[in-house]
Amino acid sequence: MKFCPRCGGLMVPVKREGKTYLKCQRCGYEEELKSNDAKSYIDKKKVEKKGAVIVESYEEKGPSEEEKELKEDYVKQLLDNLYEEEKEQED
Ligand SMILES: [Zn+2]
Repeated sequence: MKFCPRCGGLMVPVKREGKTYLKCQRCGYEEELKSNDAKSYIDKKKVEKKGAVIVESYEEKGPSEEEKELKEDYVKQLLDNLYEEEKEQED
C-alpha cells in the first residue's frame, strides 16, 4: 500500500491517457505509478491474497521499450483485476 505524502490518505491506482497514476482519495494528490511501484504493490497484494499466482512471469531482464509498455499494460490489467476481485468479495 502507498499513502499520500501530503495527507496520509490511501493512494489508489487510476488509469488516464494510457498511464497509471496513484491518486489520493482524500486530497486528490496524484503521482505517476512506475512499474517498480506497481510491482511492489502487486507483491503486497500477492501476500494478502494467499495462493494467488499473479506475478510469476513478471521478471526483470533488461526490457526493451516495447517490453516495458507490455509490462505496464500487464500491470495495469493486474491492478484492474485485483480491484474488481476486491469489490466482488465485499460483503
Ligand atoms: Zn492526500
